[in-house]
Amino acid sequence: MKVAFLSSEVIPYAKTGGLADVAGALPKYLSPLGAEVRVFTPLYRAVKARRLRLEKVLENVPLEWRGETAHFSVHEHKADGFRADFIAFDPYYDRDGLYGTPAGDYPDNGLRFAFYARACLEAIKALGFRPDVLHGHDWQAATAFAYLKFVLSGDPFFQDTRSLFTIHNLAYQGLFEQALLAEVGLPGHLFNMNDLEFYGKLNFMKAGILYSSAVSTVSPRYSREIQTPEFGCGLDGLLRSRFRVLTGILNGVDYSDWDPSTDPRIPAAFGPGDLAGKARCKSGLLDMFELPAAAAKRPVLGMVTRLAGQKGLDIVCDALADIFRLGLAVVILGTGDQKIQDFLTAARVEHPERFGLKVAFDEKLAHTIYAGSDIFLIPSRYEPCGLTQMYALKYGTIPVVRATGGLEDTIVEFDERAEAGNGFKFAEPEPGPLLAALERALGIYGRPELWRALVGNAMAADFSWTRSARAYLDLYRALGGAAPA
Ligand code: ADP
Repeated sequence: MKVAFLSSEVIPYAKTGGLADVAGALPKYLSPLGAEVRVFTPLYRAVKARRLRLEKVLENVPLEWRGETAHFSVHEHKADGFRADFIAFDPYYDRDGLYGTPAGDYPDNGLRFAFYARACLEAIKALGFRPDVLHGHDWQAATAFAYLKFVLSGDPFFQDTRSLFTIHNLAYQGLFEQALLAEVGLPGHLFNMNDLEFYGKLNFMKAGILYSSAVSTVSPRYSREIQTPEFGCGLDGLLRSRFRVLTGILNGVDYSDWDPSTDPRIPAAFGPGDLAGKARCKSGLLDMFELPAAAAKRPVLGMVTRLAGQKGLDIVCDALADIFRLGLAVVILGTGDQKIQDFLTAARVEHPERFGLKVAFDEKLAHTIYAGSDIFLIPSRYEPCGLTQMYALKYGTIPVVRATGGLEDTIVEFDERAEAGNGFKFAEPEPGPLLAALERALGIYGRPELWRALVGNAMAADFSWTRSARAYLDLYRALGGAAPA
């Protein structure tokens, strides 16, 4: 089984969110099951800066692009269990950000990622890597399915290639002006509502949903939610029409990266049998946020998150004063929305003894927050899967989450009588229910034996990739031998 993975971010090379974690981990777990995976991703400036040992496997590959011939090259890195093939085209990818700057998205993202998708197909051919499955992720890769169906349909090389499109977040669809369609070499007739038009715009994600053999999302619940107007982001009708080929497979955790007993990024190792190291992680965490050591007496609530409406940060801002009133210390690591940053920065000045804030993308600090906090808050308005609750569980940090998407699929409300469950949930995205869930958590925190039982349950949860990788392999096999629909 040969699989070509198309993902615009992949750990350990470049990451803005969970997509990178999945694209770097799933191939590694597919490989022992017998799949040969090559991951195609852009050669960003951030990747170049890592000075990896890359082998140039293709040079000067010509591609007709906007009336001229563009040339790109492909550089390969042997990763753990898969090969990463970087599409090098400096005019598009040699930039500071992956998708934009703090001021906003790059205005030519439509060109950048259509080129990426088109170049991937060209590279796959030039490498002679005849894929049984083309597995594309999110809108950045979605035009590959359109090229396959409308530009390369007669190409015998791809005759037996089936395709899977995975939606990691339906809210980011890649919307552009109509004129881009012709510019990127796709037929103009696709600009109609049954193809790629979406309320007067060109919608890249529709190409993935419409022209793939099957569509998946990253949790079973999210695959159902997106078929409703509330979560469908305007595409619920289209998704309902594809329900026969739409499934949800829960993301996994790569425990070789996320395990407190082996994690080199945290101040002290610990495991289910010995939590002494977790206390040291807590003091280390307070140090890193320059909070007084006395704060260690309080339960610490941590967050590692994009500062975005999706993640419910506005609810946190509204509830913050009451969260302090409950006696918690709070640490937040995140980047994103300027208004949220400003609010939190002002709150930090107001509560220097209780509130630590770092506006950055910082992998080491993220690990320390998972390890050193007592409670981990995820009040998302929607959550396709969510990885952070699964990381928190492994580090014995109790998730308090809004019951939606993958959060609903992975977190079970703690039942003190049965000592069953691994966290706390609330339904309405409002400060009141969030605070009530935190109070329930604190009620158990105040009874150390029960809290120990809860932490034990959390750390015992197993979301390893092996199971999900098997589900993907089954899905690949079920795609059958037909060419893309
Ligand atoms: P999403 O992809 O929607 O942002 P996920 O929960 O699927 O949410 O994945 C988020 C990933 O990004 C996790 O690995 C989390 O640790 C990481 N992350 C988010 N913000 C930061 C940050 N500021 N610094 C370091 N890691 C971060």
